[in-house]
Amino acid sequence: MPDRILRAMSLPTIDHRGPEFAVLGKRVLAGVGQIFQTRHPVVIYPASGTGAWEAALSNVLSPGDAVLMYETGHFASLWNKMALRLGLKPEFLAYRGADAQLPNAPGWRQGVQADQIEERLKADTQHAIKAVCVVHNETSTGVTSDIAAVRRAIDAARHPALLLVDSISGLASADYRHEAWGVDVTVSGSQKGLMLPPGISFNAVSPKAIEASKRARLPKAFWAWDEIIEMNQGGYWPYTPSTNLLYGLAEACDMLLDPTHGGLEGTFARHRRWGEGVRAAVRAWGLPIQCADPQLYSPVLTGVLLPEGVDADAVRRLIYERFDLSLGTGLGKVKGRMFRIGHLGDCNDLTLMAALSGCEMGLKLSGVKLAASGVQAAMEYFAGHPAPVALQKAA
Ligand SMILES: *Cc1c(COP(=O)(O)O)cnc(C)c1O
Repeated sequence: MPDRILRAMSLPTIDHRGPEFAVLGKRVLAGVGQIFQTRHPVVIYPASGTGAWEAALSNVLSPGDAVLMYETGHFASLWNKMALRLGLKPEFLAYRGADAQLPNAPGWRQGVQADQIEERLKADTQHAIKAVCVVHNETSTGVTSDIAAVRRAIDAARHPALLLVDSISGLASADYRHEAWGVDVTVSGSQKGLMLPPGISFNAVSPKAIEASKRARLPKAFWAWDEIIEMNQGGYWPYTPSTNLLYGLAEACDMLLDPTHGGLEGTFARHRRWGEGVRAAVRAWGLPIQCADPQLYSPVLTGVLLPEGVDADAVRRLIYERFDLSLGTGLGKVKGRMFRIGHLGDCNDLTLMAALSGCEMGLKLSGVKLAASGVQAAMEYFAGHPAPVALQKAA
């Protein structure tokens, strides 16, 4: 988290019914619209990303509705579990190929296969399936999915299902276009690319999703869009918003959109480059990058697979204890097989070099055989590829 955001959040909490608040409310709503790349409403909740997942499902669906989901990793699996708990009938499509590195979870190295979605929707001639739900940036694997291709698959099947996308970790680090990609509900959260503490989350909605919400019958009160969107017209919320997080959000939008630092495009370019540098290191080590499809490398984080028999969590623990560096753990089906290096939010070449040094020392101390120095390879990459836009997100 940048200091600039922390300082913005330290201001006194104002009356959320007073006139000053409406100025803040309108400012953040305009800002997040630009970040999601949409002219339509973005609903902001005082909740974590999981709350916004529930909001997306409960606003547009009815008890017993069939939904099509796709297993890309741990977060897709959790969203699927939530759909079950809400009384929906989720169908969980999985990757059909094999993988020598991860035989038990081949789909956890791949993105959503849009052709499988198209095939399944074409078979649903009665239009029983009401929504397709996919994760844009699977944070448990470091694999993105082609959301525009999923939209094209739904259209090619001439199917009326809504498209619901989790871009909780993708938004504001990876390119994401709610409106241009024809997404009906985009779910996101504050504590990933937006560089904020946890505590607020989002639903960007399409006119078609708003229409569906008028007929949907899953119970909804706290999450209901209608009252929030209505009150938002004046810059207010129907219940107490997270005022200080909204100060931070206003600041984050200013930083991410600042044209002198390349705006959103500049932000995406910075993260793509950091991803390249980290992958240069992983390749030099001779370890497999978890993402098996080079088209889908995540600019947000990189998953690193360790050799069979090495406990990735023991390596993480050693790195934490010896070098005070926190790496992401392997979640669900890949627990103990991999760790994750983050390059989202507020980042720069040198903090990443420090993280890679910690990884390299820890891997060696753990007895993992490395082909060459990843630190050297990343230094060469960063030194040889100057950033196309200013590195800082404005001071
Ligand atoms: C972090 C994350 C979530 C969960 O969000 P919480 O804020 O922890 O509730 C869901 N999906 C993805 C892809 C995430 O990265």
